[in-house]
Amino acid sequence: MKTAEIKRRFLAHFEAAGHTVVPSAPLPAIADPNLLFINAGMVQFVPFFLGQRTPPYPRAASVQKCIRTPDIDEVGKTSRHGTFFQMNGNFSFGDYFKEGAIKLAWELSTNPVDKGGFGLDPERIWATVYLDDDEAIELWKKTGLPAERIVRRGKKDNFWSMGIPGPAGPCSELYYDRGPAYGKEGGPEVDEDRYLEFWNLVFMQYEITNVRSKEDFDIVGELPNKNIDTGMGLERIASILQGVDNLYEIDEVNPILAKAAEMTGKRYGQATSKVAGESHPDDVRLRVIADHVRTALMVISDGVTPSNEGRGYVLRRILRRAIRSIRLLGWHEGPALPILLPIARDCMAPSYPEVAADFDRISSYAYGEEEAFLQTLRAGTTILDTAVTEARKSDKSVLSGEKAFQLHDTYGFPIDLTLEIAAEQGLTVDEAGFRRLMAEQRTRAKADAKARKTGHADLSQFRAALEQGGPVEFTGYREVARESS
Ligand code: ATP
Ligand code: MG
Ligand code: MG
Ligand code: MG
Repeated sequence: MKTAEIKRRFLAHFEAAGHTVVPSAPLPAIADPNLLFINAGMVQFVPFFLGQRTPPYPRAASVQKCIRTPDIDEVGKTSRHGTFFQMNGNFSFGDYFKEGAIKLAWELSTNPVDKGGFGLDPERIWATVYLDDDEAIELWKKTGLPAERIVRRGKKDNFWSMGIPGPAGPCSELYYDRGPAYGKEGGPEVDEDRYLEFWNLVFMQYEITNVRSKEDFDIVGELPNKNIDTGMGLERIASILQGVDNLYEIDEVNPILAKAAEMTGKRYGQATSKVAGESHPDDVRLRVIADHVRTALMVISDGVTPSNEGRGYVLRRILRRAIRSIRLLGWHEGPALPILLPIARDCMAPSYPEVAADFDRISSYAYGEEEAFLQTLRAGTTILDTAVTEARKSDKSVLSGEKAFQLHDTYGFPIDLTLEIAAEQGLTVDEAGFRRLMAEQRTRAKADAKARKTGHADLSQFRAALEQGGPVEFTGYREVARESS
């Protein structure tokens, strides 16, 4: 079943059950200063849950575009994490609660394909519930799910929040057992890749604040209503229904992956195992490329452009990680995005016509970013190579902080890139020394801003990038470095 058809069926199922279909909000989370990107379907409905606004409908359904930058480390290594993905969701604002949500989810999941459902084998479905949620257990049993496949889990997995202050609540999740080829037996507690989480039903009834971690926060109190918020990963259910091993192989992503494999002469799927953690490193890189190129397309389409702060910085680093990854796979024939981005466009245009209509603008930002990055790479790589050779000659396994600083200062080489390339050569970098020099330079710059001579046009850009890099959790370059070492 094509991804577009899954989306259509989801919305049709909930529309028939009295839900108003609401379009996706744009990816940038403009209304919430704590959030860079929308990370769940419920974000656009937060004021309804909190009782700040009266919803114009008691029930809604949507397919929300989401970005989760904290998942970037998982991309390609698990079978189920994208940086961009779409979340099918149904919502009740003080209307139906647990019983209705469980019934509606079960029906869509297990109804036969010729009756508008997804036709999942009920024998392969598992459910998790929050520790003391006996009510949810009873409701799942009523659907026919046996007690052995209903599991109690703690806050980390079964108490959902946006990760910031706002509405939250205990949740119940549906998992699909993909079989022994995909990992260890024993349920979601044992192996979350074999048992693939595809749907989360949140019983949204609390407001939380002081969020210190997923498990550590304060409950402000009950929300004015008992609400339902669900999220079904569109790419995840597509991977199940299309019988592919992971979400990078579904119809909306695979063509990008296949093109990257063709460009680099890599044969995708070299590992004989279907266990995600046992993938060949080349396969992981191909998935990263496919994921990141699609993400960049969707992010630029929603109005974000590469820059040195906030959302633009996330985009810049996602683009650069894709470019760097394809070069590490052996592609050296000039820019790669002019080949890959049009394929991503063709994958997404059927559901998002704007990516085709606006492609000239979208592609000019992406291609411009690649040109600039390739220039940086050209300038810095020779210097770095010499430094590596020198370090080797003098029998050192550490690249000095001075060298890293010089590369940064003169050639606009981001420190992450230096770390990555050094790691490929079996060297570490004196990061503390580098940071000290950076701090000294900042002090000098403050003392006499006018006298400072940069000597390179790119410098300000990357200095800003480093200084602004703090708030955005992004370990992309380090990740590639780890993969390479
Ligand atoms: P996981 O435990 O697998 O990381 P999650 O519990 O963090 O998933 P939820 O916050 O419950 O995910 O989000 C609701 C649904 O969205 C999930 O059940 C899953 O189907 C989907 N989903 C979550 N994160 C991703 C992602 N990074 N890529 C694709 N789909 C995702
Ligand atoms: Mg997660
Ligand atoms: Mg989970
Ligand atoms: Mg979940």
